[in-house]
Parts: sequence; C-alpha cells; structure tokens
Amino acid sequence: MEPAPPPSFGTLGPIAAGLACCCPRCGRGPLYSGFLTVAETCNSCGLALHRHDSGDGPAVFIILVLGAVVVAMALWVEARFEPPYWLHLVLWPPVILGGALAMLRPLKGAMIALQYRHRAHDYTEDRDV
Ligand SMILES: [Zn+2]
Repeated sequence: MEPAPPPSFGTLGPIAAGLACCCPRCGRGPLYSGFLTVAETCNSCGLALHRHDSGDGPAVFIILVLGAVVVAMALWVEARFEPPYWLHLVLWPPVILGGALAMLRPLKGAMIALQYRHRAHDYTEDRDV
C-alpha cells in the first residue's frame, strides 16, 4: 500500500490555522459551520473536515489551564483584598465561563490541525465513500 501524500499547509502553519479556526490544510476556509460544529468540508480546498475527532481534548486542556489560572487569581484576590465570599461567587463564574467559551474554538481548531498534521485520522477526501 502506498503511503498517503504529506499534508500541505497554506501560508499559516497548522497550529496557527487551528487557532485562527481555519482549515488545517489551506488556512483559508472556515473550520466551523457553527460555534463548535466542524464544517463537513473546507470551502476553499475541499478537505473532508468531518473526519476529525478531537473528543474531549480541548475541554481537558481548558479545565487544566483555566482552572490553574482562576485558582491562582482567586487566591491572589483573597490574599490581597480579603473580599467577602459572595464577591468570589459573583466574580469567578463569569471569568470561568467567558474564558472557557473564548478558548474552546481555538483549542479545538488547534487539536484538529495537529490531528491533520500528524495524520491521526484519514482526512483524504478521495476515500470519502
Ligand atoms: Zn482548506
């Protein structure tokens, strides 16, 4: 069996394309058709994007990174200002929710781009039968 041709990349590198929520091959077409819904194919190059499987990977990274940052910030605020506990209850949920929503699309895009780069899945459109 002949090995698959190496993936090609546009002007953006695979991680930059993923973080920009663009197609991991050409870097031009949008990766998503909804907020987190991956498009069936790239509008620009025709890459079958629906074959991705990032699973829970982006969520795990967000939990670990954002959790560490928010806990560090909460500890710093508590040590520095000693606010009442209700202020923590008001302050941190929007930070967590906003941070998670802001990080989810780019991290999912980066994981899909890394899967494409390392051929974790068969993205070739000619085998889409
Ligand atoms: Zn493309």
